[in-house]
Amino acid sequence: MLKSVQSSLVCTLVFAFFGPSWGQSPTISGFAPAGAAAEARLESEFKSVISTDRIREYHRYFTSMPHPAGTKADYEVAQYIAAEWKKQGLEDVAIRQYDVLGTRPVSTSLEMIAPKKYTAVLREQPYEVDPDTKSPDVSPAWIGFSSSGEVTAPVVYAHSGNPEDYELLKQHGIDVKGKIVLVRYSNPYSYRGFKALTAQRMGAAALLIYSDPAEDGYTKGKVFPDGPWGPESHIQRGAITYDFMVPGDPLTPGWASLPGARRIPESEAVSLPHLVALPLSWHDAKPLLENMDGAVAPKDWQGGLPITYRLTGSVIAHLKVEMDNSTQPYYVVEARIRGSEYPDEWVLLGNHHDAWVYGGVDPSSGTASMMETTRAFGALLKQGIRPKRTLVFCSWDGEEVGLTGSTEWGEQFSDELRTKLVAYLNVDSSASGPNFEGGASGSLAPFLVETSRSIADPGGGTLHDAWLKSTTAERKEGHNPEQVTDANVVNTRIGSGSDHTVFLNFLGRPVITLEFDGPYGVYHSMYDDYYWMNHFGDPGYKYHETMSQLWGVTALRLAQADVLPLDFQFYGNTIGQFLDELAKNKKYDAAKLNLAAAHKAAKELEAASAQTEALKPALAAGKLSGAQTAAINQLLMKGETNFILPEGIPGRPWFKHILYSARYTYAHLELPAITEAVESGNWAEAQRQTEILVKALNAETALMRQVAAVIKPN
Ligand SMILES: [Zn+2]
Repeated sequence: MLKSVQSSLVCTLVFAFFGPSWGQSPTISGFAPAGAAAEARLESEFKSVISTDRIREYHRYFTSMPHPAGTKADYEVAQYIAAEWKKQGLEDVAIRQYDVLGTRPVSTSLEMIAPKKYTAVLREQPYEVDPDTKSPDVSPAWIGFSSSGEVTAPVVYAHSGNPEDYELLKQHGIDVKGKIVLVRYSNPYSYRGFKALTAQRMGAAALLIYSDPAEDGYTKGKVFPDGPWGPESHIQRGAITYDFMVPGDPLTPGWASLPGARRIPESEAVSLPHLVALPLSWHDAKPLLENMDGAVAPKDWQGGLPITYRLTGSVIAHLKVEMDNSTQPYYVVEARIRGSEYPDEWVLLGNHHDAWVYGGVDPSSGTASMMETTRAFGALLKQGIRPKRTLVFCSWDGEEVGLTGSTEWGEQFSDELRTKLVAYLNVDSSASGPNFEGGASGSLAPFLVETSRSIADPGGGTLHDAWLKSTTAERKEGHNPEQVTDANVVNTRIGSGSDHTVFLNFLGRPVITLEFDGPYGVYHSMYDDYYWMNHFGDPGYKYHETMSQLWGVTALRLAQADVLPLDFQFYGNTIGQFLDELAKNKKYDAAKLNLAAAHKAAKELEAASAQTEALKPALAAGKLSGAQTAAINQLLMKGETNFILPEGIPGRPWFKHILYSARYTYAHLELPAITEAVESGNWAEAQRQTEILVKALNAETALMRQVAAVIKPN
């Protein structure tokens, strides 16, 4: 970026802080006027450091070799990040090693032996235009935490592999016991680990998961290397860990996998699958599907291939998978910039560095954005600019296997994190296109909306404008009539599936998740690489740049705020919505479970938090002393903790948040304990869990009254 362009951009953005009427001081939530003006200048300076060229260089490095968790290449990436962070001037750079149950392929093979012979390729086709696709280091098809085994059995097509699909097979008199089940990815989306658990429960001998062109291939648009969608031979690798039960190392549920730590036997590990599994391209799935000669599958089971999809028939396959699921070292890289005033209040930024292959989008786009964000913080530090609170940076390992590195790190430092962590800001993939998706646990949603107003969007205008526009288009496409506003543009329904999980669900800390997305059909395949990014995802690295700015500014505001911008009025309202949605659940019966007390408690929280609205005028008038703001912040930091239930939700003790969890499919699940009790018709448990919620809401209301008392001591 040219220098002159940069400085004009800086002016525009500083003016953006002035809000609707000229001449007023800039206002940023949580900042007294003098602090807000200084913060605006600091943010401009921070943003001006971010360079698309640097991000591209970082991205080229991270996408230069396959680096799945537990490999030598992945360790080299960790060492590179540590060395760069030292060069950038970050403090306390360290590599943490966790010895976890790992998963690596030794050999995989698949043949159809009847009615015809076909040997599956299990490899992705190279393309001349993209030299990275010709590397001998790219793995064949494999699934993380598949069991080792050899199976010869008939093949049954089970659509998405969800429980209702097996119901339909049963209605057709088809039993999958001892058979090889062939399912497709994401229709509708369900995590492959849930497909594996379901197949295991049904007694299947093995699971094949393939990418149908209807989901991410030619049905959607042009395929690689001519377009962003998945070509004939693309393989979606991935793990099938049951991390919806407990994430991290399956042998240390709830504590860190440090050397010498206690480990449970594999037979007791609930997150460990017991099934042979393999992913397939549609190139390899087609011969199996088109040679079936049994009953025709229902209309909505038909996919994008020009064949008639059938449920079963005379296809017999031979599958052999050999895995090395032994203990392997995973490496989390950690660095910080120690806070000048509140070193024991931490703002944590994290991204994972392990990739199934090159990880062009997932996660190398995020890793490249992160390196540029940290470089900018390092540049400020070299000028003597140190934020008030401590910034902690973590590059996780093994996210792809079971959110492993972040979970082990979070478990290792759980005591400190519970009291010191202000918020966790996760970026997994930073950019696969121009559409911004921002997520936040309830108390941080308004803060994220406000911050987006201070960031320029590469398409023109502010990120805030672009976000509302793209979300409006998305909802229209999804036939969702809800109008997009500041009050609902943030996704406050946070499920699992990335490294924020341990912080929200285990430790009870507020989280924010950030991503730009777009048409992307090469997820977890070899084609998710540098070429893909430079031709389809973000050729100018402009959205990477925007992400580096947004991530950094978000962190900076949290680190510098006089009063932490946590909004419990909004949170109370959001919880009210969760209750409304529960009442609409098909299994909910108002005669069996009364939610009135919970609704009332959520309303009271809203009202009590509205009292702390006195905070804004007091802050604006400079009436709060340093001692008062420090006391208020300590109280606000306890706000998420009230929603943590030490014994966890029933059946999943690791998941301790009573507002947030994930379904086994990875779909978000609010009020998990009450909802699951309602759905299973356990009304006594639903009642008990509702009382727990009311108690937590009342504790939260009491906390807000304490905040109000600090503002107005009498
Ligand atoms: Zn990822």
